[in-house]
Amino acid sequence: MPRYYFDYAATSPVDPEVVGAMEPFWSENFGNPSSPHETGRKAHKALEASRETVAKFIGAKPEEIVFTSCATEANNQALMAAARSLRKKGDHIIISGVEHHSVWKPAEFLQKEGYEVTIAPVDGDGLVDPSYIEKAVTDKTILISVIHANNEIGTIEPVADVGAIARKKKILFHTDAVQSIGQIPVHVETLNADLLSIGGHKFYGPKGIGALYVRKGVEIEPFLFGGDQERGRRGGTVNVAFAAGLAKAVELCRQKMDTETKKQTQWRDHLFVEIPKRISGVKINGHRTKRLPKNVHISIDGVSSEALLLNLDMAGICASMGSACTSGSVKVSRVLKSIGLSDEMALSSLRISLGRWTTDEDVEYLLNELEKIVKKLRK
Ligand code: PLP
Repeated sequence: MPRYYFDYAATSPVDPEVVGAMEPFWSENFGNPSSPHETGRKAHKALEASRETVAKFIGAKPEEIVFTSCATEANNQALMAAARSLRKKGDHIIISGVEHHSVWKPAEFLQKEGYEVTIAPVDGDGLVDPSYIEKAVTDKTILISVIHANNEIGTIEPVADVGAIARKKKILFHTDAVQSIGQIPVHVETLNADLLSIGGHKFYGPKGIGALYVRKGVEIEPFLFGGDQERGRRGGTVNVAFAAGLAKAVELCRQKMDTETKKQTQWRDHLFVEIPKRISGVKINGHRTKRLPKNVHISIDGVSSEALLLNLDMAGICASMGSACTSGSVKVSRVLKSIGLSDEMALSSLRISLGRWTTDEDVEYLLNELEKIVKKLRK
């Protein structure tokens, strides 16, 4: 049975063109980019070309891009390194209530270290209120971090407005653009970002590579202590092949984003109309229009996510739920709680995410199977 993949928000297949772009760096152009000889210089040139491509895509300068091992590392560092570097200035951090774990957990860690953390609440659609953040700022605030688009419910946050507040008050502003890059425009100037995280594998690049944009003039401590790689910001030999893959993924998104966004928006909106038509007791989670084109997130009254996902899997459909499963026990998602969902509705949720290889047939198949499965489960 063919697999129907609807979990692009978890990860995406690597585009064959990305695989091709990485190929020369395994054995042919294998040099260490820090080596001064010709082989090293060739690798260095390729690495810098990749940096330039990534930088250009988000409106940054090449020297403002630091390659990391993943988006989690970029997010961790944005918080940890910024907080430590600015400790003398203050100890207050503001994050939103819908941050990914890779921002949330460092914030919790910093709290244990004595930093004060304010969590800005979100409304029923998952939107943060910039004026709440403005009021929460104190003379001790050193960092504000608000996700660009949430990974569970797909809501796109008013990041540019929050960034403008941060800029006015001379506070560092970080945004996690892991889900939005390649889906909607991500531009560091428009978003007023000082720090911005991306990861490769959500937009057809390889796993194991990410990047943190660090605005020129922002001094933060090194991520990893070691050699002078990444202009002294992150020790460790950079994975040139993955950087080339990330750059190729960026390049492909630049070419295809408009068409893909249009198509995915159509499928998303079709699903939002069709699912409630065919199935009763469906609640759409997240903002109806201020949301990622690829994201459909619903709760289906009286149907457990676990049973639903198992049955979808048996029908060859890969999807996911809005809450995290850890070692067999299903936890209610913090994000779904923050938008006011009851535990029951949170544990009856389904995330469908669309991508480059989704087809009309896939979407129709999903609709038909979903209807059948819900009917069966409700019996
Ligand atoms: N931020 C967001 C919004 C994400 O969706 C993810 C991955 O799910 C991450 C950060 C972390 O990415 P990675 O697991 O690739 O480090």
